[in-house]
Amino acid sequence: MSKTILVTGGAGYIGSHMVRMLDQRGFDVVVYDNLERGNRDAVTAGVLIEGDLHDTDRLNSVFESHDIEAVMHFAALAYVGESVHEPALYYRNNVTGTQCLLDTMRAHQVNKLVFSSTCATYGVPENLPITEATPQNPINPYGQSKLMVEQILKDYSVAYGFRSVALRYFNAAGCAEDGSLGERHDPETHLLPLILFEALRVQSGGNPTDTALKVFGNDFDTRDGTCVRDYIHVNDLCSAHIAAFERMLKTPDLGAEQFNLGVNRGYTVLEIIDACREVTGVDFSYNSVARRAGDPPELVADASRAMSELQWSPVHADVKESIQHAWNWFSAHPPAN
Ligand code: UDP
Repeated sequence: MSKTILVTGGAGYIGSHMVRMLDQRGFDVVVYDNLERGNRDAVTAGVLIEGDLHDTDRLNSVFESHDIEAVMHFAALAYVGESVHEPALYYRNNVTGTQCLLDTMRAHQVNKLVFSSTCATYGVPENLPITEATPQNPINPYGQSKLMVEQILKDYSVAYGFRSVALRYFNAAGCAEDGSLGERHDPETHLLPLILFEALRVQSGGNPTDTALKVFGNDFDTRDGTCVRDYIHVNDLCSAHIAAFERMLKTPDLGAEQFNLGVNRGYTVLEIIDACREVTGVDFSYNSVARRAGDPPELVADASRAMSELQWSPVHADVKESIQHAWNWFSAHPPAN
């Protein structure tokens, strides 16, 4: 049996890009996904096993029948707003589910995990740009659930010699360069896809004044009053996972580590809208509406630690590349309604 990477949540947005990259780089891949939010046809390589993290019998059988060397753990719920209304769902899926995974791994002597964490663990950051030392004070159950897993990983490293790298993603964006793999959330709540949906609507003859695009808040203390985010291309996130895996092999005794993943540059919502107009060539409009609950004004990474320790750097640091790749995808796969 050859060594294999288990990708939980491999049918989701970031996970599916990860599966493809691992396959392209010669890894054997097993995907474990309950397909509640993932898409079966997004899994373009490896073996797909449909199952829930809480189904430990099924998880056990995965570890029994494959020689798993490490796990990349993407399976989680990731809507901030939903987490506020349904915290039970988030703690159950993101925390309890992860613990089922970790304890199954331990039972099979698999002790290497790359974990999808988030800048939402910082809440409203005390300093900018955000380093790994910036205090973590999440302001919603989603961020809290990810922080709790980071803590579990620290405790497991001390008690059980468990090796992990938690990657704190900033705003994932973009799609496969050739438009062959993309992004499908239901409901879609993310800025970039929603802007591109509006561009598609206008491009196909919709009246620009009937815009469905909303800009949440124009009175933040930022350069144009709208929120600033650090957008990182999905394939740059994925290459960091491979770098993290390689680091775990080289440094098995380092315990639990954490790295920010961003491009060290922030764009306002209005700057993203302008960049989308430029890339798509479509002159669409938007409505300014009230702030969305729980949105910090500015989240920009200092990812220099990931760059030096993981010997990783983003290759699509210009947000227009993410926009172009996402446009390639959405133009070929417009939303159903
Ligand atoms: N945003 C917006 N309109 C939308 C969706 C998002 O103005 O329809 C803003 C949101 O307030 C935030 C930024 O765009 O400042 C990025 O939001 P997104 O939901 O994409 O990611 P988040 O930063 O919440 O993870």
